[in-house]
Amino acid sequence: MKQYQILVIGGDGIGTEVTEWGKKILEEIGQQFGHQFTFDTALLGHSAIVATGSPLPEATLHKARQSDAILFGAIGHPMYDNDPSLKVRPEQGLLGLRKALGLYTNIRPIKLFDELLDASSIKPEILKGADILFFRELTGDVYFGEKARKDEGKTAYDVMIYSKYEVERIAHKAFQAAQKRRKILHSVDKANVLESSRLWRETVNEVGRQYPDVQLHHQFIDSAAMLLIKNPKMFDVVLTGNLFGDILTDEASQIAGSMGMLASASIGDSTGFYEPIHGSAPDIAGKGIANPLASILSAALLLEHSLGLKEEAQSIVDAVDKTLKEGYRTIDIADVHTEKSKVLGTQAMGNHVLTSLRAIVKTKFELSTY
Ligand code: NAD
Repeated sequence: MKQYQILVIGGDGIGTEVTEWGKKILEEIGQQFGHQFTFDTALLGHSAIVATGSPLPEATLHKARQSDAILFGAIGHPMYDNDPSLKVRPEQGLLGLRKALGLYTNIRPIKLFDELLDASSIKPEILKGADILFFRELTGDVYFGEKARKDEGKTAYDVMIYSKYEVERIAHKAFQAAQKRRKILHSVDKANVLESSRLWRETVNEVGRQYPDVQLHHQFIDSAAMLLIKNPKMFDVVLTGNLFGDILTDEASQIAGSMGMLASASIGDSTGFYEPIHGSAPDIAGKGIANPLASILSAALLLEHSLGLKEEAQSIVDAVDKTLKEGYRTIDIADVHTEKSKVLGTQAMGNHVLTSLRAIVKTKFELSTY
C-alpha cells in the first residue's frame, strides 16, 4: 500500500471550517480505495501570527517541504483589512509559502454543475455548457515587484514585473492543457498600455509556435472581463498573470454559482498546494453555514494533480454532483426563488457528500465485479 503525507493548513475564519471536510473526504477515499494518508497540521496567516508572531512559521515551511501535497483553507482577518499600516500581515504567509515552494502555476477549473444553473445571477442559456480552465501565474506581477511610498507617504507604487522565463514556464503548461481539451487558448493581458504585458504577449506567441494545433487568441483584460459574462462558452483555456487572474477568476466564480464552489491547484517545482478560491469570509465565520464543496473539490484536485489518483478524484466530483442532484444546498447556492433547495449548514452538507461518496464507490466496485 502506498503512503501519502498530506499537510492540512486550515488557516483563518471559514478556512478551518471547510478544510475539515476536505480532509474527511480524503480519509474516506483512503478507506474506500485502500490508500494510506498520513495527516499533519500547520499554522499560516493570522492564526500563525497570534501563536508565533510570524505569518509563516519555520515549522510550517519545514512540514510543507516534507509533504506530498498540501490541503489549505484560507487566511485573513478584518483587523488587517481595516488597518493597512500593520506590517506583519496574514497574506505574507500565503505569498511567502507559494514563493518558497516555487508554486508558479495556479489552475482553476470553472465548471458549472447542471443542478446549479439557477444559482448563478447569469442567465442559464448563457451558462449551460461553460467549461473554462484558468492558468493564473502566481509568483510574479505587482504582488512581488517593488512596493514603496514617497513624498512623505502621499505617493505609492507597486511595480508590475515579469521575466521571460516566468511567462514561458506557465505558457507551456497552459498550451499542454489546451491540447487535451478544445485546443483554444486565450492569453489575457493589457499590452496596449503595459510593457510587462508586451513581454507577456511576445513570449506567449513564441511558446505558441511549438503548439500549432492550439488556436491562440490574445484578449485585453478589460474586454476579457466583459466577454466572460457575455459569452463564457467562447473560452476553453485562459492564460493570464497574477493580478488579472486574481480578478478574472473571482468574476468567473459566478459562472459556477458561488465562491464556495471553486477549487484551485497551485503547482510548481515541488509540493502541490490545493485550496478553495475564496477567502476567510469573516462575515460568516463561526456561523456553521460556509459551503465546504470548494474544499472538497480541492481534495479531488490534490488526488489528481499531486498523487495521480484520477479515479478517486472523479469519485469525489461525482459525489458532489449526486449531493446537488438530491437537492442539498448551502445557503450561498440555494435557489431562493423556489422551495426546492434543502438548505444545510457546513457539517450536514459535508456529511451528505460523504454518504454520496460511499454510495458511488460501492456501485463502482459492484459493477467492476461483474
Ligand atoms: P471572501 O472570499 O472571504 O468572501 C467573499 C464573499 O463570499 C463573502 O460574502 C463570503 O461570505 C462569501 N463566501 C466565501 N466563501 C464562501 C463559502 N465557502 N461559503 C459561502 N459563502 C462564501 O473574500 P473577502 O470578503 O474579500 O475577504 C475576506 C478575507 O479573506 C480578507 O482578509 C482577505 O484578505 C482574505 N482572502 C484570503 C484569500 C486566501 O486565503 N487565498 C483569498 C481571498 C481573500
